Amino acid sequence: MSTKKEILSIFALGGVNEIGKNMYAIEYLNDIIIIDCGSKFPDESLLGIDLIIPDITYLLDNKEKIKALIVTHGHEDHIGGIPYFLKKLNVPVYATRFTLGLIELKLKEHKLLRETKLIQIDSDSTLEFEKVRVSFFKTNHSIPDCLGIVFHTPEGNVVHTGDFKFDLTPVNNQYSDIHKMAEIGMQGVLVLLSESTNAERSGLTPSERIVGDHIEEAFMKAKRKVIISTFASNINRVQQVVEACIKTNRKLALLGRSMVNVVEVAIERGYLTVPDDMLIQPHEINKLDPEKVVILCTGSQGEPLAALSRLSSSSYRDAEILPEDTVILAASPIPGNERNVSKIIDNLFSLGRRLSMDLEAQQKCMFLDMVTKKI
Ligand SMILES: [Zn+2]
Repeated sequence: MSTKKEILSIFALGGVNEIGKNMYAIEYLNDIIIIDCGSKFPDESLLGIDLIIPDITYLLDNKEKIKALIVTHGHEDHIGGIPYFLKKLNVPVYATRFTLGLIELKLKEHKLLRETKLIQIDSDSTLEFEKVRVSFFKTNHSIPDCLGIVFHTPEGNVVHTGDFKFDLTPVNNQYSDIHKMAEIGMQGVLVLLSESTNAERSGLTPSERIVGDHIEEAFMKAKRKVIISTFASNINRVQQVVEACIKTNRKLALLGRSMVNVVEVAIERGYLTVPDDMLIQPHEINKLDPEKVVILCTGSQGEPLAALSRLSSSSYRDAEILPEDTVILAASPIPGNERNVSKIIDNLFSLGRRLSMDLEAQQKCMFLDMVTKKI
């Protein structure tokens, strides 16, 4: 029987009823284990705010109990707050190989890499804390190397799914551990923490593989340069852009700091394969024939300072959108970003009107968007 102190507490410090700054905590006796530490981008009602991070007052008041920060995957809404958190609480960080690569980028930027204890885990790892044991299972999502977490507590098992989808034919062959999930279910689950963006939409998310066919077709039809924008972290989609470049004999230029950084981490850690001579520098774009070039850029969410936004308003130094170029938005807007994305599309249409750009290609963008609904 539990005394008052032995109660299992599960609480969120962000990410409930909002998209962004995900952070959960599990507390039992002397153990507090934190799941994710995300950030959130401000909307237009928060002028002057650069970034929103979770309120960690409770954790600061109980810092001696905090044993670990476990990170489910490398999306910004799960890792963006980590440097700010670590500046206040120096806690060991557990994550998979690719997720750690993205966290390291942030820690380097904030000069925190040396003093932070980073521990690589995978779906077979188990962690033992005072009264809580932690195990993992593989999930599939729009970024490689995702984990779901099981907290084995004296009160029962708590399962946190992380973000997930079920892709039965994943591009990177990282399959969800469906059998392990069934086994966890058989053992009994006290609490399941699970959510899904777009949960109100019925039906299934198509496999990422379908997107590759559409990208390739759009590249084949493109008369001149292709400008394609997606999330830098969607390495499977980036891989499909690379494959389409190989098939259509085009070179690839990366625009946007996060695209360059994330692609570098992905190549270095073996999550992305790019032929040696494929990548070109932005200043080389104009030296090649336009039909030999693809620009892969950041800004698919309409971020005002990202590469696509600047290209759409003709304010990028090394590259510009010219008549008959094809623009592909290969990512759905995250709820809340629709207005910024519409602004980019407006800019592209008005640029297109001025340049008589290929409108059919823009309709194609919409089509890609339709088939890539994110879970
Ligand atoms: Zn995610």
